[in-house]
Amino acid sequence: MRNRNLALILNHLHQNSPISRSELSSQLGINKASISTTIRELIDRGIVIEVGVKSGNQDVGHPSIDLMINPDAGRIIGVSINQGIVTAVITDISPNILWRKEVNLPASNLFQENMQVVKNLIQEVCNLARGHKLPILGLGLSIPGMVDIESNRLLAAFELGWQNIDLNVLIEGNEDINFHIGNEAHMSGLGERYFGSSEKSASTLYLNWGLEMSGAIIINENVVPGSMGLAGEVGHFSLDPNGAMCECGNLGCWNTMVNFKAAVSRIQSKIDAGESSCVLEFCNHSLNDLSLNLFIEAVRQGDSVAVGALKETGKWLGIGIANLINLFNPDLIVLGGPLSQAFHLVYPIIQSEVDQRALPWQRNSCQIKPSRYRQDACLIGAVATVIWNIFNNPEEPIRKTFRKKIKR
Ligand SMILES: [Zn+2]
Repeated sequence: MRNRNLALILNHLHQNSPISRSELSSQLGINKASISTTIRELIDRGIVIEVGVKSGNQDVGHPSIDLMINPDAGRIIGVSINQGIVTAVITDISPNILWRKEVNLPASNLFQENMQVVKNLIQEVCNLARGHKLPILGLGLSIPGMVDIESNRLLAAFELGWQNIDLNVLIEGNEDINFHIGNEAHMSGLGERYFGSSEKSASTLYLNWGLEMSGAIIINENVVPGSMGLAGEVGHFSLDPNGAMCECGNLGCWNTMVNFKAAVSRIQSKIDAGESSCVLEFCNHSLNDLSLNLFIEAVRQGDSVAVGALKETGKWLGIGIANLINLFNPDLIVLGGPLSQAFHLVYPIIQSEVDQRALPWQRNSCQIKPSRYRQDACLIGAVATVIWNIFNNPEEPIRKTFRKKIKR
């Protein structure tokens, strides 16, 4: 009961601050004495702060003091691995990014070399976070692949070419820090729900659009994990039995119609048909060397071939999204990931496909929005995952992290 009340209070404070003790009591249905005791403890531990007297009609002699989660209750580390790059941040609880570093990964796909670079950056960010002299609330690591979150084992990251890797090695020497590893879309979806585009949504489908398409189903503030924590692999929906080969080995997955490679092959077809494009100069006339960022740059510059390829890709995106709306009946679809930087160009195409194909009740109750954090959604999501674990299973992390703070 105590753990449940603590979780309710922390989550409610996070979503509704500033808020008074009596408002917490009436809105949560927990008696005032229990609220008062719990808030006293959270203030003693430095997790909650009082932020002033609420204005408006107050009982004389009983001023109502507003409360909020203390942004400086501790520091959180977020790390994301993507193709060619690893990024680390230190944030407060808000989460304001206080420090950030990106490091290129070796061009080879040899995971030992790549892992060493990731491990070095994690060591650096842990050392720096310790220097803040505040509790380190945890480290979230986002991976674009399927992860067994019980054992911290990466099952497969098709686009990175990595399989069956024990990721516990990454935190060797820093085992005192709560370590949460997760799938990029799951973490990003949670981050958008906590701090971004889907705040207040009861039923969100988050789609991570980039090198591949992956997804997360978020009900209220919880990721739907599935039986093994692997739910949401929408990119591997089989849509064309005779389609192109997907990285998973199957033919005609939705990925092969909507991912970055699909856009590049559409560029190739246009160039083969005689259209001219600045994209070729961007990649020294070898489309195999075209990076996702350079593709986005060509789109930004209005290159007709790049924009045309993106719009064709958007049509297939809309067809898949119409199916997902029928399947999940979400109130919101959030499109994130690197390709969502071009949301404004593809949104009318997606909406048109959805209007033609999804069932009217489901489509009329569903909004489609870009993610707030775009390509950074996975980093904010890694941070949000740490916060989710504290808010929803508070006894153990709070006991471990804040044990020295109680003075009474
Ligand atoms: Zn596939």
